[in-house]
Amino acid sequence: MTTYEAVIGLEVHVQLATRSKLFCSCSTEFGCPPNENVCEVCAAMPGALPILNRQAVRFAALVGLALDCRINSPSLFARKNYFYPDLPPGYQISQFELPLCEGGHVDIPGDGGGVKRVGITRIHMENDAGKNIHLPERGCSHVDLNRAGTPLVEIVSEPDMGSADEAVAYLRTLYGVVTYLGVCDGNMEEGSFRCDANVSVRPVGESRLGTRTELKNLNSFRNVHRAIEFEILRQRDLCEDGGTVVQETRLYDVVRNVTTSMRSKEEAHDYRYFPDPDLLPVIVPEGELEELRASLPEMPQARLGRFATLTGLPVADLEVLVQSRALADFFEKAAGLADPRKVANMMLGPLMRECHATGAKTGDPASWAMTPEAVAQLVGLVDKGTISAKIANDIFPELFRSGEMPESHVAAKGLGQISDAGALERAVDAVIAANASEVEAYRGGKRKVLSFLVGQVMRQTQGKANPAIVNELFARKLGDPS
Ligand SMILES: [Zn+2]
Repeated sequence: MTTYEAVIGLEVHVQLATRSKLFCSCSTEFGCPPNENVCEVCAAMPGALPILNRQAVRFAALVGLALDCRINSPSLFARKNYFYPDLPPGYQISQFELPLCEGGHVDIPGDGGGVKRVGITRIHMENDAGKNIHLPERGCSHVDLNRAGTPLVEIVSEPDMGSADEAVAYLRTLYGVVTYLGVCDGNMEEGSFRCDANVSVRPVGESRLGTRTELKNLNSFRNVHRAIEFEILRQRDLCEDGGTVVQETRLYDVVRNVTTSMRSKEEAHDYRYFPDPDLLPVIVPEGELEELRASLPEMPQARLGRFATLTGLPVADLEVLVQSRALADFFEKAAGLADPRKVANMMLGPLMRECHATGAKTGDPASWAMTPEAVAQLVGLVDKGTISAKIANDIFPELFRSGEMPESHVAAKGLGQISDAGALERAVDAVIAANASEVEAYRGGKRKVLSFLVGQVMRQTQGKANPAIVNELFARKLGDPS
C-alpha cells in the first residue's frame, strides 16, 4: 500500500503595531465604536490619496531582516482587485511583483528531533479590510471601517513543513520573532497574528506536489494544529480510496473539528493585479537599513541558549522563560542580582504556579505585583540562611499577590531562620532527652534516625531552625554512630 506524506506551507498575516494606519493618519486602536477611526482615505472617497506610513515600512523591514531576507529597494505596491462591502475602494493595496522582502528562512525544531530550516518565500506589505457586521434579527448588515487600512505583513513560507507539529513549531518561532521585535502586539484573539495553511499530500518518494487545499483564517496555535491534522487525514483517506483532492479553499469548523469546502478553484478570484498609480516605488535607503539591522534585538532561540549556559539548566526547561521578551527581561534582571540558577528554578516553579493559580499572564510580568528585585531578594534570603527554602515556598503566594519585598515581610512576620547556636542547642538537648530510644538506635548504627530527630527540632521551631546548624549540633552531641 502507498504511504503518503504531507506538505505544508503557511501564509501568516501579522498586524503591525503602528499607531496609525498604512496610508492615512487614522488610529489603529482596537475596540473603538464603529467607524470612529475613518477618514476619506479609509472610506475611499474619490480623489483621496494614500500617504505611506514610514514606521510600517520600518517594521516590515525589521521582520525581513530578522528572518534573513533580502530587502528589495525599490519595492512596489499593487492593487488587488475584488469586490466586498468592507473594502470601499474595490481593491486591496498589496505588493505583488516586487514585495519588500524575499528569500529568508526560519530554523525550527523538526519532527526528527533536529533543527529544520523552513524557507521564507516573501514578505509583503498590505492593508487590512474593514468588517461586516451581520444583524439577521434586524434583517440588515452594517460595515465597520475601523480596521480598514490597518497595516499588515504577509509572511509566505516555502512548502517545507511535513506535519501539524512542524507547522505549529514554525508559527511559534515566527510569533516569538515578531513579538520580540515589538512590531506586533501578538494578540491572537484580536486577529493580530493569524494564518492560512496550504496542505497537500503525495506518495512518499514523489517529488511533485499534490493538489493543495487552502485552510483560511486560523487564529490559534491549537486550531492550526487541529485543522491541519484533520485536513491531512481527509486527503490521505481520499487518495487511499482512489479519489482525487480538489483544489479549493476550506474553512475549519472549531466546534465540529472538521474542514469544509468554502469555494473551489473555478470560483477563485482573478485579482487583476497592477501597480498602484497613486503610490511611488518604496525605497529604503541603505543607511536606514543598516540602522534597522543594528537595532535587531536578540531573538528567543539565541536568548534561550544563553540562559542555558548561564544557569546550567536544560534548554527544554527554560523555554517558558523566553515566551515573551518582557519575561526574558524579567529573568535577566533578577538573575543579575542573585544566583541565576536559583532564580530560574524559583521562576519556573513557584512563580509559574502562582501565575496559573491567580490567572495572571505568564508572559506579561508588567501586570504582576511582584518585581524581579523581589524574586532576587527572596533567593538571596534563602542563600544567606535567613529563611529556609520551605519558608520561601510557603510565603511565595503572598509575596506574589501583594508585591511586598521579601525582607520586610520576613521581618514583620518573624519568619527569620533561627541560627543562634544557643537557642538551637537547647532545642536539640530537649529532643535528645525526650527521645531516648531513638537516640539509642542512632548510636547503635541506625543513621536514618537522625532525620527524624532533626525533624523534631524543626517542628518545635515551626520550621525556622537552620537545618545545617541543627545537623551539626546532633553530630557533635551524639558522635558518629558505630
Ligand atoms: Zn483614515
